[in-house]
Amino acid sequence: AKKLPGTASLHYDASMAANGTEHAHLGAELREALENDQLFLLYQPIVSLDDGRIMGSEALIRWAHPTRGTCGPDSFIPVAERTGLIVPLGQWVMRTAFAQLASWISEHGDEAPGVMNVNVSARDLREPEFVDGMAALLKEFGLAPDRIVVEVTETMALEPGQSIINLHGLRDLGVRVSLDDFGTGHSTLTLLHECPIDEIKLDRSFTQAQVDGRPPVSAAVIHLAQVLGLHPVAEGVETAEQAEQLLALGYIAAQGYYFAPPMPADRFGELLRESGSL
Ligand code: C2E
Ligand code: CA
Ligand code: CA
Ligand code: CA
Repeated sequence: AKKLPGTASLHYDASMAANGTEHAHLGAELREALENDQLFLLYQPIVSLDDGRIMGSEALIRWAHPTRGTCGPDSFIPVAERTGLIVPLGQWVMRTAFAQLASWISEHGDEAPGVMNVNVSARDLREPEFVDGMAALLKEFGLAPDRIVVEVTETMALEPGQSIINLHGLRDLGVRVSLDDFGTGHSTLTLLHECPIDEIKLDRSFTQAQVDGRPPVSAAVIHLAQVLGLHPVAEGVETAEQAEQLLALGYIAAQGYYFAPPMPADRFGELLRESGSL
């Protein structure tokens, strides 16, 4: 596996985020950003731990702010959620990621690009139209439903009402559901057993804790995944040692700076063209 140069992502200052006036301002700016194509997606490869083959990618949003440079999602997703802009933003993410996957498939063949993981917010998942919207987009771009993996957090998966209805709707559609940041929330065995979840993503705090001599949560999680038939993905792999340990434990797929950082679509396309592996 080889490393690629990191993709810089400048963040807003934390003190700004605490300021209400700045927030209102940011909300207005974000509305403009949506209208004026200032948002873009980076794609981080998800690779097979045993041979480095690309199994898919996770779409991660960025904002090319006209004066502040590139901003990461932690600086504006919370604002988008508070202002309701998260709904059109979520639709934009989905449409852009689906279009990208369809384009890679037509350029590099059906197999090469693998699956597309997209992050959705709690608000997105509560929309009664969420599943229908997903079905319409799959149809529009001619994508098989099992090429899409919707990443949700444990809190979202535990929410009764429309959210859980939508998770079942995704399952019925054939779209896969991934439990993000696994281990940091409130997962119970009941949740894992009863929710329509296909994949768990081991949070990077556990991926990285392995070399610190802390208890191997990653080992417990892989057993859980195997018993419950969930596809295990390890996030935040930064070193060869971490990758080796995860493979030895039975992890199949991983993501992290050790393999590749989130990258622009054309760079990801080059990887697919070159060899399809890292
Ligand atoms: P996440 O879903 O847990 O995404 C993984 C984050 O870890 C990404 O940060 C990624 O750039 C970063 N990362 C990847 N490899 C490594 C590594 O080896 N080490 C370390 N330390 N970090 C790594 P990013 O792109 O800043 O995204 C932050 C969070 O924003 C995401 O966390 C996700 O919850 C949210 N997000 C990103 N894109 C979207 C989106 O399109 N919609 C929504 N609703 N949320 C999004
Ligand atoms: Ca994610
Ligand atoms: Ca995560
Ligand atoms: Ca997260």
